[in-house]
Amino acid sequence: MGSRFWFFMDTFLPGFISNYFAFLIVNNIESVNRGKMTELSINKNHIHISLAQRLRTLSMNMWWTWNPEAQALFNELSPHIWRHSNHNAVEVMQDISECELEARLRDHELSRRTYSVLEKFDSYMAETSTWAKHNASALKNPVAYFSAEFGIHESLPIYSGGLGILSGDHTKSASDLGIPFIGIGLFYRQGYFQQRLNAVGWQEELYPTNSPDRLPMELVLQPEGGRLLNTVEIGHSTVYFQTWVVHIGRVTLYLLDTNLPENDQHFQGLTATVYGGNIDTRIGQEIVLGIGGVRLLQSLGITPSVFHMNEGHSAFLVLELLKQELGSGKNQEEAERTIRSRCVFTTHTPVPAGHDRFNSELMAYALGKFWNSTGLSHEALMSYGRVYPSKTDEPFTMTVLALKMSRAANGVSELHGHVSREMWKELFHGKQVDDVPIGYITNGVHTPGWATAHAHDFWNKRLGFDWTAKLMEPKFWRKIADDELATDEELWALRYSLRRDLVDYARRQKYIQMGGTSLATSHILSPDVLTIGFARRFATYKRAPLIFKHLEKIIPLFSDPQHPLQIIFAGKAHPHDNDGKQFIQHIIEISRQPELSGKVVFLENYDINVARHLISGADVWLNNPRRPLEASGTSGMKITIHGGLNLSIMDGWWREGYNGHNGWNIGDDQNETDLETQDEHDFESLFKVLSESVIPEFYDRDERGIPHAWLKRIRNAMQTLLSQFSTNRMLGEYIQKYYIH
Ligand SMILES: *Cc1c(COP(=O)(O)O)cnc(C)c1O
Repeated sequence: MGSRFWFFMDTFLPGFISNYFAFLIVNNIESVNRGKMTELSINKNHIHISLAQRLRTLSMNMWWTWNPEAQALFNELSPHIWRHSNHNAVEVMQDISECELEARLRDHELSRRTYSVLEKFDSYMAETSTWAKHNASALKNPVAYFSAEFGIHESLPIYSGGLGILSGDHTKSASDLGIPFIGIGLFYRQGYFQQRLNAVGWQEELYPTNSPDRLPMELVLQPEGGRLLNTVEIGHSTVYFQTWVVHIGRVTLYLLDTNLPENDQHFQGLTATVYGGNIDTRIGQEIVLGIGGVRLLQSLGITPSVFHMNEGHSAFLVLELLKQELGSGKNQEEAERTIRSRCVFTTHTPVPAGHDRFNSELMAYALGKFWNSTGLSHEALMSYGRVYPSKTDEPFTMTVLALKMSRAANGVSELHGHVSREMWKELFHGKQVDDVPIGYITNGVHTPGWATAHAHDFWNKRLGFDWTAKLMEPKFWRKIADDELATDEELWALRYSLRRDLVDYARRQKYIQMGGTSLATSHILSPDVLTIGFARRFATYKRAPLIFKHLEKIIPLFSDPQHPLQIIFAGKAHPHDNDGKQFIQHIIEISRQPELSGKVVFLENYDINVARHLISGADVWLNNPRRPLEASGTSGMKITIHGGLNLSIMDGWWREGYNGHNGWNIGDDQNETDLETQDEHDFESLFKVLSESVIPEFYDRDERGIPHAWLKRIRNAMQTLLSQFSTNRMLGEYIQKYYIH
């Protein structure tokens, strides 16, 4: 009721008084003493400061990252800080001067929108009739979701790629659905790394340090005050960690951090970077995440209903549970049974390098002290991580530990489920591949968080403001077939605006990347040209340069004067991955060929922000991994709400999403054994689809310039993909199949 009342008052009362009333409305939750009306005349500043305080609270809850109106407020309060901090709301609220804030909030229009956002936030937080209330009431205690990375927003850089993005989207959907949920991760002070390309196109890595007090997080304190400290044993040392709490809508994320004076120098930096350092760093980080995570939950008095290991990095958590069960007097078999009843595991990749393996010496060194207290032998420890326990040269594999100690396990697409059963069948000796107990739940994305402000606006007008609550209703999305709801002309105008935004953004970024020296960037890209996007980690199996395999064939497509093509790349190679860096360099060299100048663009420093521009602006999202190595892939799911179309290998999610009319496939639904043959076939297929279908359809216009067949394909994609590949649908499946026992 608050905001409607406010609209009314704003029209009739002078700003100063109306602000006071708004203050009462917003603050009656905080039970303001209405008797203090007499302070009205002297408390003008107080009014605005209270609003500022509420904005500070808002900046500390990452709910704003999926609410464009909230982001617009922070942007408007200080466009300068907002842009230079990579959209960090906490920095805006810290760095804006009191007097400027006050001056800006005195603007009626802005303060009215501020109240409306705050009201929306309050009602979101207070909502009791959530999806989970009606569909997951059996879940009393929280799900404890462990992940080595969480990609929530570009301003909190504690993620590397798809795994982190998925964790972030999982967390946001858990909040939206009202699921009792706690995330457990690490606070990486230096994050992943920032990418710069040098003059010859070689990737260089920068590691700026993030200060926690500039981020939306707070230290977890003890009840008596003072920060909460916990410990883990690594080697012979006791390593302390503190914990940061991040609020993500209605759910909580805890980030563990060893950067403490109590620790030896090298343990202070243990949690500094995502997947950084060497194998010792890796095992140390995983001890903190898994063992430390369990201890943290206990010190907070939280008993999870289920431990969800999102990828094997956190699997040491079962060793801590085992130690505790043994300590309580259970024998090994009973202890294992208890633990298995409490744990579930998701595996994310068939790529061998994606599975952590530690040799026996390292295990003995790193976990020896911890394991001694269980009274079990070192070989007993190793056997939990071995397919063949008696094979003394077999390393300890985190995935094996997780599979052995979970009541249920899953891959992240139908095909990946199959590949995982095949991959781990020997662990379940005697079982047929199809009977190996690894199922699948296909990944999704948190669409409200990926939709740009422009897309929100467009669909709010046409689908109603509650479209974000309908992501689990496939029927709702059939409406998009109706061209009364959104005409072809309107959809095409949306496509133009989004493509134009991307082209402008890419030109600005190129200008900055060139050191601000180039006079003109207008030759770079065109807002009218069919635009392909390709952005993801530069892991070599994703084959970023595949499209350039036969330049003599592909260049004519780019330089066709009537029906041209342009492509924008982004992505980071892991600092140790020289082959990945060579892929980047190869693309840079190709982009410098005169025929391709301004048509092939590489944007540096891929992160969530760069991703958002690309997934909204690209007409076609190219995905050409070496099948079947892309377990799911999620970037292609983010484009649909913006009217983008997928052009993809039949791998991961696209094998399930593609129906012949909602995008295009590359290659067939089968695996090729010989890699060179596979590359050759996939290039040929890509070339054929591009030249015979994608390009002609994009440029097939009516007399007003509208490509009706293309738009039909977009409508089909929206109807068939949006609901299916949403993390809301995914969470629903996790709840039914895995969380509720
Ligand atoms: C979505 C996303 C990914 C995952 O992309 P895939 O194509 O699934 O590998 C990686 N990084 C960022 C920044 C993303 O937004």
